[in-house]
Amino acid sequence: MSYYCNVPAWSHSGALGPEHWHEHFPAAKGDLQSPIALYSDSPVKACDLQLNGYNSATELTAVNMGSTVYFTNDCAKMANPPIYVNGVHGWWEKYSFNHFHMHWGETSADGSEHTIDDKRFPMELHLVHCLGNLSLAQACNRPKGLAVLGFMYKITHEDNPAYTPLLDAIKHVKYKGEEKQVQEGESLSLASLLPSSLDSGYFYYSGSLTTPPCSEVVQWMVFSDPISISEKQISIFRTLHRCSGHGCVENMSGNWRPLQPLKGRDVFQSKKVNAQLNKEPY
Ligand SMILES: [Zn+2]
Repeated sequence: MSYYCNVPAWSHSGALGPEHWHEHFPAAKGDLQSPIALYSDSPVKACDLQLNGYNSATELTAVNMGSTVYFTNDCAKMANPPIYVNGVHGWWEKYSFNHFHMHWGETSADGSEHTIDDKRFPMELHLVHCLGNLSLAQACNRPKGLAVLGFMYKITHEDNPAYTPLLDAIKHVKYKGEEKQVQEGESLSLASLLPSSLDSGYFYYSGSLTTPPCSEVVQWMVFSDPISISEKQISIFRTLHRCSGHGCVENMSGNWRPLQPLKGRDVFQSKKVNAQLNKEPY
């Protein structure tokens, strides 16, 4: 079986790298770009964010997208509970879970897209939610169309067992377009992948997709408490193949965008009591 990569329109380095994105994707030079540098002295303004269905078991499928790996759930399956967030930036509209993916470094010296107090982390998780029942493509064209929860990772000596099923699936999706169900016949909850505590709360601001077309449609919420992962586990992400102008090449890594200017935007923090992991889906 042979694998074919279309010549990509962008990449994370070289002639198609982030400093050139605006040539084909003008939004990349807009006023609401992400990621940004976050600081713990930002003003606190409580928001009653609620994560619904995060504790319910769900079936996930890993898909190699050429620049990262998506973990999607099939919402049409009756077995899968509704997973959504509301209270995003104080707005009660519902955003439905679409997928999550990560950004990581060539080494664990960097990899996250956002920084917190000038610290960069080895990997960052993005849980992407679409407004109402919009598709991802529709949400990318709608103001406030997406709500993304971001989480940082920290390297620990011990493996994080919750990630074992994801890593097993990654080993089967080395090339772009390949798919593999996570933990076939079983399921896991999104909450199991998150930090054990959300006590430190999150930063929130209005921004963009961090990859082309860099649409300025994202309500960002970036959490302070990191997720644990071992060096051995994070290295498995780097065994994925990415797409380049020369087809599939090894070492999908360094897939993070540099910091973007704040351009006068407000960044707020909200604390623990307002970030709830509801046990019931409703
Ligand atoms: Zn992302």
